[in-house]
Amino acid sequence: MKSDNGFVYTKKRHYDVAVIGGGIAGISAALSAARLGKKVLLAESSYILGGLATSGLVTIYLPLCDGLGHQLSFGIAEELLKLSISRGAEGDYPDAWLNVDENSVEKRKSQRYLTRFNPHVFVVLCERLLTENGVDILYGATMSKLHKNRAGDSVSSVSLITKTDSYVVSADTFVDCTGDATVFYHFGAETFLPFHKNGNAAWYYEMKDGEYRLKQIGSCFYISSEEVNEGVSGLDGEENTADVIKSHLKILDDFLKNGDVSKNHAIATLPTIPQVRMTRMINGAYRIKKTDDKKHFDSSVGMFGSWLEKGLAFELPIETLYSPYIKNLCAAGRCISVDGDDMWDITRVIPVCAVSGEAAGVLAAVTSDFSDINVCDIQTVLSKRNVPLHLSEAGV
Ligand SMILES: Cc1cc2nc3c(=O)[nH]c(=O)nc-3n(C[C@H](O)[C@H](O)[C@H](O)COP(=O)(O)OP(=O)(O)OC[C@H]3O[C@@H](n4cnc5c(N)ncnc54)[C@H](O)[C@@H]3O)c2cc1C
Repeated sequence: MKSDNGFVYTKKRHYDVAVIGGGIAGISAALSAARLGKKVLLAESSYILGGLATSGLVTIYLPLCDGLGHQLSFGIAEELLKLSISRGAEGDYPDAWLNVDENSVEKRKSQRYLTRFNPHVFVVLCERLLTENGVDILYGATMSKLHKNRAGDSVSSVSLITKTDSYVVSADTFVDCTGDATVFYHFGAETFLPFHKNGNAAWYYEMKDGEYRLKQIGSCFYISSEEVNEGVSGLDGEENTADVIKSHLKILDDFLKNGDVSKNHAIATLPTIPQVRMTRMINGAYRIKKTDDKKHFDSSVGMFGSWLEKGLAFELPIETLYSPYIKNLCAAGRCISVDGDDMWDITRVIPVCAVSGEAAGVLAAVTSDFSDINVCDIQTVLSKRNVPLHLSEAGV
């Protein structure tokens, strides 16, 4: 007999840490917590890891450095960059950073520590890395409901729906890596949208005359307030569908400029996730802003630069990862707590998602009561992993 929700029965699972969303932030958070010996679930609604970075064909791993020769992002952010090109880079091999010789130090001032990777190889390598580290991956699992504890200040469990099963997953701590703060939204926590909506983007891979190349069609930048009605928020299913169909037509037009399909010409890969850059984010205990450039935070749990502007350098305060009103839920990736579109454009990129993911994974592993965080405990773990936390340590 079927239950009310149409499934034969609901499976119950318990984890130390449940990570929802398997993009770069989710991969980093799950790996980070698993390395502390925690039993970790990574629930991902598609059947592939990487989110926008792989399914979205956003295959430029933006810089780990400040553009003036200083490396800022370390730990899992650097590990994933190296992993992404461990079987070859699609382009922009950062030789000054990876092949050290007497010219490297000088060359790093002009060559940024970024690269271009193959999404398919990276997906499989990430999956292998997580399973080798004991992370339980559940694909095809979309978080659809959240259940609070009696006091209403913690998440007790989430419901996950797959094609065949319904799960109720309880955990000591939860990490929202959905890219659009879905878990916080279900909790009823305060979230907000950026002022700008997203312009249409249509990135795809074309194979032509033996060359396989990424085509970045359409503006990937957010549109101005005057054009705001034409953009998408990323949170409306029908709007997203219309935007994806628009991208597909643009891709077809672009592809046909080089002729029909032949053995020397084909669309090699389409994106399988909406290429939306900016959506909902959390209103955390602190919202980092662009004027925090070069600011020291006692509670820093990582560092990052700006892909847009050389010389900017930020410490990431742990307060950007959680809300003061929820005890056991934190966020990582492009939905962390930041102020203003200019800052979100800096924090939403792959290396920063990995930095916040690693930090959130440690936070979730170390405590399940964020109202009483001893930041030294988290910093000690990161320092033992050789992750510098302050700009002074990076020579900035
Ligand atoms: C057009 C475009 C160009 C960009 N260019 C670059 C670039 O050149 N370089 C760069 O570094 N960055 C770039 N970015 C930004 C960067 O790719 C993303 O911001 C980053 O990869 C986001 O990572 P994330 O893990 O936070 O989120 P996402 O990649 O969005 O991952 C979230 C994951 O959560 C899953 N999920 C969502 N909801 C649920 C749910 N309810 N239950 C279960 N799973 C769920 C999704 O399926 C997805 O896999 C670009 C983005 C876009 C759109």
